[in-house]
Amino acid sequence: MEKCPSCKRTLELYRLDFMPRPLCESCLCKNIERRVRREIRTQCPLTKGDTVVIVDDGSKEARMLEYILKRLEKDFPIKLSKSKVKNAKYALPISLDEAAVSFLEHVINKKGKKIGFAPLMVVHSEEVILFTKLKKLGGKKKLIKGNIKDHLDTLEKKHAQLKFSIIRFSKELEVRSLK
Ligand SMILES: [Zn+2]
Repeated sequence: MEKCPSCKRTLELYRLDFMPRPLCESCLCKNIERRVRREIRTQCPLTKGDTVVIVDDGSKEARMLEYILKRLEKDFPIKLSKSKVKNAKYALPISLDEAAVSFLEHVINKKGKKIGFAPLMVVHSEEVILFTKLKKLGGKKKLIKGNIKDHLDTLEKKHAQLKFSIIRFSKELEVRSLK
């Protein structure tokens, strides 16, 4: 038991290498959810009455996306669906790791397409695992195969923030190319 630096309560704290400081369960989940909501606002601002389709591949990412969007639905008038709907916004269950690999594949091989609306792009796969465990959401662990993923995991051991930096950089490039 330790004092949580955010809420100052003495509780069990969770630490991940890339996190600036350990947090208690409640603060950790709030921090992740806040990041996802901010990402939704910047990637794909929702308007009243929008239908959002959760692309469900049975993964932990899909379970987490569903949980967070359902909570958003309570604060904001959107409709959630799991089947195809005309003119809907499709939320993809893609975490930071998958997005970083996909960006590097694009840089190295010029293959792979631009990722669509992926609110979990700012959430590390280890955070996905922890969040779905703490909230008891289930879902299958996603396997990302290939050399790039393996190299990235190795480099990450020395540079804990690496995947976050790659995604930040890929966004900067996008912004620049739009100008
Ligand atoms: Zn706390």
